Formats: sequence, structure tokens, C-alpha cells
Amino acid sequence: MEAIIEKYKKSGVKLTPQRLAIIKFLEGNTSHPTADDIFKSIKKDYPTISFATVYNTLEMLKTNNGLVEVTINPERKHYDPNVETHHHAICKSCGLIVDIFTDFSKALGVVEDEVSGFVFSGNHINFYGRCGDCTSERDS
Ligand SMILES: [Zn+2]
Ligand SMILES: [Zn+2]
Repeated sequence: MEAIIEKYKKSGVKLTPQRLAIIKFLEGNTSHPTADDIFKSIKKDYPTISFATVYNTLEMLKTNNGLVEVTINPERKHYDPNVETHHHAICKSCGLIVDIFTDFSKALGVVEDEVSGFVFSGNHINFYGRCGDCTSERDS
């Protein structure tokens, strides 16, 4: 947490208590919340916070490489504080998003052979299906 705060201070970002609360909420958060989820949660402690503040803070974090957008549904962006390369498994029933840390970089070479002239610098794969809870509900 301290290291994160230092990082933003160095890049000249003003850290208001509300912004700090958002950073704290996201730190280590693996639930891939939407802006609305974050807004609702921060609002409990900061009733005067506006949705614009949440949105602007998310944009600021994105610009400073502190956050990635998971665009599964363009109308409902999810945010992920884990900026390391990883992939996502998405449950089509309940919308659960789970991190996958398998390294597919070897496969990129195979793809590069197919797309002439491209050299890939990154990758993000979405896997779709049903999560354990949804599968067992269906089976029972
Ligand atoms: Zn599910
Ligand atoms: Zn993730």
C-alpha cells in the first residue's frame, strides 16, 4: 500500500482521501469490480463522493499503469488492479470473473506465423463457460 501511494505521489497525482479510499479498495482486489461496484462500496465511508470522482480516479489509475480495464462487456467495464499479464475465465451464468495465470506466450509465436508482419507485445485471453457454483446448481 505504501509503495503504491509513493508511486502516485512521484507521478504528481493528488491523492485526496476519496482517491486513497478507491486505491485501497482496489489493492489486491481480485473480484474485478465495475465502476458502479466501486462507487457503491466507497459511498459507505464517503457518502458525498460522486460517480464522476470514482470514474476520474479509475482513469487516472489506468493512465498511471495501476489498473487495467477488462472489457468483456463494453457497456459494463470491469477493473483489475493486477496489471501483470494474465487471462480471465468468465462465467456466462453469473458473470464471475476468475484470474488465469497460465503463460500462453509460446502460443503467440504460432499466431505470429499466421499474421505476417506482426510482432506481439502482449496478450489477453478470455475463456467463457460456467463456474463451479453454476455447474453444480444445474446438476443438482
Ligand atoms: Zn457462475
Ligand atoms: Zn484479472
